[in-house]
Amino acid sequence: MKKHNFYAGPSILPQYTVDKVAEAVKDFAGTGLSIMEVSHRSKEFVSVMEEAQSLFKELLSVPEGYHVLFLGGGASTQFAMVPMNLMNKKSAYLNTGSWASKAIKEAKFFGEVIEVASSKDSNFNYIPENYTIPEDADYFHITTNNTIYGTEIKKDIDSPVTLVADMSSDIFSRPLDVAKYGIIYGGAQKNLAPAGVTFVIVKESILGKVDRPIPTMLDYRTHIEKESMFNTPPVLPVYAALQTLKWLRDKGGLEAMQKINEEKANMLYAEIDRNKLFVPTVDKDSDRSIMNVCFVMSDEYKDLETDFLSFASSRGMIGIKGHRSVGGFRASLYNALPPESVKALIQTMKDFEANN
Ligand SMILES: *Cc1c(COP(=O)(O)O)cnc(C)c1O
Repeated sequence: MKKHNFYAGPSILPQYTVDKVAEAVKDFAGTGLSIMEVSHRSKEFVSVMEEAQSLFKELLSVPEGYHVLFLGGGASTQFAMVPMNLMNKKSAYLNTGSWASKAIKEAKFFGEVIEVASSKDSNFNYIPENYTIPEDADYFHITTNNTIYGTEIKKDIDSPVTLVADMSSDIFSRPLDVAKYGIIYGGAQKNLAPAGVTFVIVKESILGKVDRPIPTMLDYRTHIEKESMFNTPPVLPVYAALQTLKWLRDKGGLEAMQKINEEKANMLYAEIDRNKLFVPTVDKDSDRSIMNVCFVMSDEYKDLETDFLSFASSRGMIGIKGHRSVGGFRASLYNALPPESVKALIQTMKDFEANN
């Protein structure tokens, strides 16, 4: 039976990426060696790193003055690296979920943190509006896509101070105006590559302004200077990221990707809104994530939750159980998830409704 992979992360990758990595695990670039066995200083891998950085920049139209880094440590390490490198006294955060809260916790090690707004009062089911960003903050941090709660900031917002964004789960889902940001970072394991590599897009001119000493590995300038080769980079995940970037380019780039992503998400939200068994957890259309769609059983049908999960799994649906902090279901619709999988899920929901 065909499997439909709705996991939130690590998650589905293009078949192209999986195939190319499988080949390179056996024989990388005609070297006769596995990608797992080659030096990161070999000319073959150096050219993978260079191509990955340049294609990353091309797809996102990254302007002059920015660098693309491939680091270890996950997005969670960036929660600390951002304030360590940018905060002298004060920073501002928008609290839209668990990941944002974790970023806030780390920032507090380095100075005063202003939480400009939070949607915690209603289990993070909306994106706060009408907040004020303090002009004396060193930066303002947002989480563009809240993987757990299914909300998303789908526009590049204006900020009077340096804007920093965790885009772990929506990078490459739409075109971006990178010039509006000082730093964009994320773990690659949602929409780009296997776990193990963290991308950081950083504007060089915002660095070097804090007074504290910064340990070498945690200083962005180290990795800019050595082009992500200061220490051993995650070789295989970077190779995989390059394959996904090529796949994205062949698909027509990010405008084409955004169109497909919106169609997939709209289809599924329409079914959730229509089907009497289910209700969405995010009401407001403009706040609904196109990457992670969260829904629960409607009140009258609450006791059918486990039945639906086993029915869906009998139809090949994998990874649709919701995160424990929301419950119900979550379907992650990352770039590589084909529209056919969304259609199959919708059919499953319709058939379950008909049976009940
Ligand atoms: C998954 C995720 C993280 C955590 O990433 P790690 O690479 O596991 O540290 C952080 N932020 C968001 C928005 C995520 O989806």
